[in-house]
Amino acid sequence: MKKYLWVVVILIVGISSIFYLLSRSLENKNNSVFKESWEEKCIGMVEQQIEKRGVKDPLVLKAMREVPRHEFVPENLQNQAYDDTPLPIGYGQTISQPYIVALMTENLQIVPGCKVLEVGTGSGYQAAILARMGCQVYTIEIIKDLAEKAEEKLKELSYDNVIVKQGDGYLGWEEEAPFDRIIVTCAVDHLPPPLLSQLKEGGKMVIPVGPPWSIQSLWVVEKTRDGITTRDLGAVRFVPLTREFQGE
Ligand code: SAH
Repeated sequence: MKKYLWVVVILIVGISSIFYLLSRSLENKNNSVFKESWEEKCIGMVEQQIEKRGVKDPLVLKAMREVPRHEFVPENLQNQAYDDTPLPIGYGQTISQPYIVALMTENLQIVPGCKVLEVGTGSGYQAAILARMGCQVYTIEIIKDLAEKAEEKLKELSYDNVIVKQGDGYLGWEEEAPFDRIIVTCAVDHLPPPLLSQLKEGGKMVIPVGPPWSIQSLWVVEKTRDGITTRDLGAVRFVPLTREFQGE
């Protein structure tokens, strides 16, 4: 009788170990399939939405392939992270459409090591792209919660060359000026004088200019010895730059 009991115990332990090992290996397999599929989606996004529309800068394309965009969108929207669209990130704000991020970044003509100011941190995705390209990034967000969240996310993903500040980006970042490049990711109806004065001579700024809650023009502004030159990249629609936080 005792002998049978032992056999039963050994059988139960054996079978449960097999089930445990099987379930662990399945779990690992699922994880790697999951991970691979984010990477595949990201590569597809760059190929279909960005390269096909004419963005060529290899540094931009590489960064867009390497930064995990799904990490910067709300969890319930992660499966749309690589779609051809902007997405809500809370507080009525959005993470820009991937193509617009690529277009703006390409027109900044980034040189690794350059000092960039971003106005409108939002999710932190654009800042991560610039950091991946080797810039020293200073980014300002007016909504405290978004600034904190973005800072946390950038730290978690080890983008150490980004400094996030909560504040009004219209005023720029006087203590860190001048900047080689400035990117504004919220719409203004005029070029903010503090940003122009904090841009180096020979520096470039990409900024959506036009009426709020409407269609704006995406401008590339170059600061020359004699003033500025502007070039229009086409119509865009950005959330407006606000001077103080109104909302939840
Ligand atoms: N670059 C972001 C998208 C930004 S959406 C990304 O990659 O996700 C525009 C952001 O600009 C919003 O988060 C909004 O809160 C912020 N914003 C609006 N007015 C601002 C201001 N005066 N200073 C700084 N940020 C501002």
